[in-house]
Amino acid sequence: MSIAQSFANVPPLRAVSHLSCQGSLDASCYDEGMEFKAGFAAILGRPNAGKSTLVNRLVGQKVAIVSPKPQTTRNRILGIVNRDDAQVVLIDTPGIHKPENELGRQMMEEVRQALESLDVLLLIVDAKAEFGAGDRFALEMVKGAKAPAILLLNKVDAMAKERLLPLIDHYSKEHEFAEVIPISALTGDGMEIVLKEVVKRLPEHPPYFPPEQYTDQPERFLAGEIVREKAIVASRQEVPYAIAVLVESFEEGAKLIRIRATIYVERDGQKGIVIGKGGAMLKKIGTEARLELEEILGTKIFLELYVKVLEDWRDRPALLRQLDWRRQLERMSEREAEKT
Ligand code: GDP
Ligand code: MG
Repeated sequence: MSIAQSFANVPPLRAVSHLSCQGSLDASCYDEGMEFKAGFAAILGRPNAGKSTLVNRLVGQKVAIVSPKPQTTRNRILGIVNRDDAQVVLIDTPGIHKPENELGRQMMEEVRQALESLDVLLLIVDAKAEFGAGDRFALEMVKGAKAPAILLLNKVDAMAKERLLPLIDHYSKEHEFAEVIPISALTGDGMEIVLKEVVKRLPEHPPYFPPEQYTDQPERFLAGEIVREKAIVASRQEVPYAIAVLVESFEEGAKLIRIRATIYVERDGQKGIVIGKGGAMLKKIGTEARLELEEILGTKIFLELYVKVLEDWRDRPALLRQLDWRRQLERMSEREAEKT
């Protein structure tokens, strides 16, 4: 199942028809007839190729989610590009930037599967640097995936253009890229073309996220990710794919941030594991998540955690992967609906 399919039950949002509607879920802001494209694009490339710089450029503001640590094998949102006609969700697939020998077969397979459900792949290379093991690894991932791949030759501001030709030649012999675009993520050169070529390859689909949601509230999303990570680690991988976290409320006070989150699991047994004897496990998860959040956000955190069972996720890993986004989306539309 693709990531897009996993959103099949999300109440449809429509294209933003006028600017005053930016960020609103009000039905009147969405025009049924308007063509809108939305989808997921992964960014691949060895360390230092310029991935973070590219995401910052494309998103055009502070990156939506900056996580200090590599997380689980799930896809992770790096940023969301909102345009009048399209929404591009930029995805990082943790594990993809490691050299091959550090990755187990299973991990490798998971990374491949994660790539399967994406609409476009962006392979970014440092055009100034020699082709190395990290480039090889990223290239192999692209070759093994079905989605069309766009090759971005980065850092052209810092090199002679003639040097691009041998590089293009080398890469084209390896793989049939949908496009090859010389860019400078640093100066912003080529960004419009990149976006145009990505959007061209997205399916027609309403936006997955209300514009500005995660760019406005990166901390809220990060809080959910960190709780999820702690819960996965604490339960010792016994239920990794059965865990999803929904941040129910995130209230910033003068002295502290109050966060209420629910950890969703599939079965009663898993609920037992996550809660632990006398609540010890849940307490541990909460403490670890709180300490890390306090460090990242630089403020005191009051973290309240709940555990709930939601059956029948095992067969739908993609749905699982996205559950927290979906739930947040649904709750937002419910809240908006209540207001009107
Ligand atoms: P990442 O490890 O792939 O996320 O790479 P970063 O985005 O952190 O960039 C690595 C280094 O390359 C940083 O020092 C960037 O400033 C630099 N860099 C990124 N893009 C460009 C570019 O287009 N031109 C030049 N000259 N430097 C760049
Ligand atoms: Mg980076």
